[in-house]
Amino acid sequence: MNQRLAPPCWHCGQPAPSGAFIARTPEGKRDACCPGCAAAIETIYGMGLDDYYRIRQDDAPAPDARRAELDLALFDIADLLAPHSTRYRMASVCDCSLAGSPVPPAAG
Ligand SMILES: [Zn+2]
Repeated sequence: MNQRLAPPCWHCGQPAPSGAFIARTPEGKRDACCPGCAAAIETIYGMGLDDYYRIRQDDAPAPDARRAELDLALFDIADLLAPHSTRYRMASVCDCSLAGSPVPPAAG
């Protein structure tokens, strides 16, 4: 049998297909199960909070796709998105940023 087990997501511990989602940290690349966990890893390291991964006693809660879809549906309001997005043929791209907490670029 030639079955390869996916490594655990560095953030939540769910299977993370190797190379599918990579978080770049000062300590190297970390596998993630989804773009959300990759972003969480890079944000935590980027803000200098990497002790979180050393002192935590359990993995972070796994992403709940259904819940995320419902949460994001709150922002699916055309009038709300129009000033912050660019419309293409099949989709819109939203431009956004976090202000007030500069995040240094991740090493990689
Ligand atoms: Zn994860």
